Amino acid sequence: MVNQPLTAPTAVREVRHLEFALEDSGLQYLPGDTLAVQVEQDPALVTEVLQLCGLDTQPGLHERLLRQQELTQVHPGFLKHYAACCDAAALQALVADPKAMRAFLEHRQIVDVLREYPKRLAEAELLGCLRQLQPRQYSIASSQRVWPDRVAVTVGVLRFDVDGRQRAGAGSGFLAKRRVLQDRVPLYVVSNPAFRLPADSAVPVIMIGPGTGIAPFRSFLQERAATGGGDNWLFCGNRQRDQDFLYGEELLAARQGGLLTRLSLAFSREQPEKRYVQHLLREESHTLYDWLQRGAYLYVCGDAKHMAEAVQDALIAAIGDAQGSDTATARQYLVQLRQQRRYQRDVY
Ligand SMILES: Cc1cc2nc3c(=O)[nH]c(=O)nc-3n(C[C@H](O)[C@H](O)[C@H](O)COP(=O)(O)OP(=O)(O)OC[C@H]3O[C@@H](n4cnc5c(N)ncnc54)[C@H](O)[C@@H]3O)c2cc1C
Repeated sequence: MVNQPLTAPTAVREVRHLEFALEDSGLQYLPGDTLAVQVEQDPALVTEVLQLCGLDTQPGLHERLLRQQELTQVHPGFLKHYAACCDAAALQALVADPKAMRAFLEHRQIVDVLREYPKRLAEAELLGCLRQLQPRQYSIASSQRVWPDRVAVTVGVLRFDVDGRQRAGAGSGFLAKRRVLQDRVPLYVVSNPAFRLPADSAVPVIMIGPGTGIAPFRSFLQERAATGGGDNWLFCGNRQRDQDFLYGEELLAARQGGLLTRLSLAFSREQPEKRYVQHLLREESHTLYDWLQRGAYLYVCGDAKHMAEAVQDALIAAIGDAQGSDTATARQYLVQLRQQRRYQRDVY
């Protein structure tokens, strides 16, 4: 197993490259697929939750929470059940106001709610509030054609502070700590037929993957290097070249060696005005449109909340610029690409 940082220790957010040996698992995957990881909770978090509920001496409960219950993603169902268990008027009021409840939940994990509104619970009450722990998914960042016995992923580690207490995401926190070669991690492949390279490898591809959105395109590029093929154009974006240029050396080498016909980079924090991939799309509108007219496939991967719509708007604007058309016509062009399965997105 490989588990190494792709970011400098001073980077705002840690991103790690992980590789798992497939050994005799028989696991098979294609570029575009995702890896689902059955994660475990942080034992210290489990202890904290049990102590807050007065259940830390209950036999077997620690093990159950560790492997089976969702403890980080706080959801309205939890709050409703928990409010019913304790008498806190403020909590009851929150539950009655969905908008306020959503705002409250955005910056808290379950443990933070328990700390703010402490209540000793019976085991059944606590379990009644909690959901089943779900596997976490990560885009596969390797090609099995090149690495038959390995699978790689790119993990952005979610860490934040709540009232001075360090919190982490369950999945990314779990994976960030798997440093030991002998560690066995339960995983399976989730097939993603809606995110696939063109069957004809001669067809050009345009890949837009800011941040951890780069992951599937590392897999695509390995595959295209192995199969030979058409032109490859990658747009990626990070904050600063010396902090978080994910797979930077590899990408520059691919550009140098010709595997990447074009590499367009946006570093958002290197100039006074923030610069993102969507700015590059506008700047490159004519070349981008030429590629699309040549039959290129267009892929977008990464953050759904902040990136996907901004990139889609920039694509429409870039097409409009190149065509000299209005927004409706440019949007229709993108719709047609999607219908032809030449515009594929994997956003999360
Ligand atoms: C198809 C697909 C592909 C994906 N590919 C990748 C990938 O390639 N790389 C990658 O890194 N991720 C990827 N993800 C996202 C990944 O699955 C996880 O969602 C991500 O790692 C976070 O999960 P977690 O378990 O670490 O955090 P969780 O434990 O699920 O979440 C932590 C919870 O903490 C709370 N929280 C979050 N931020 C804050 C904050 N700032 N302050 C207070 N509370 C907060 C929220 O309640 C949140 O629900 C993908 C997702 C999907 C669906």
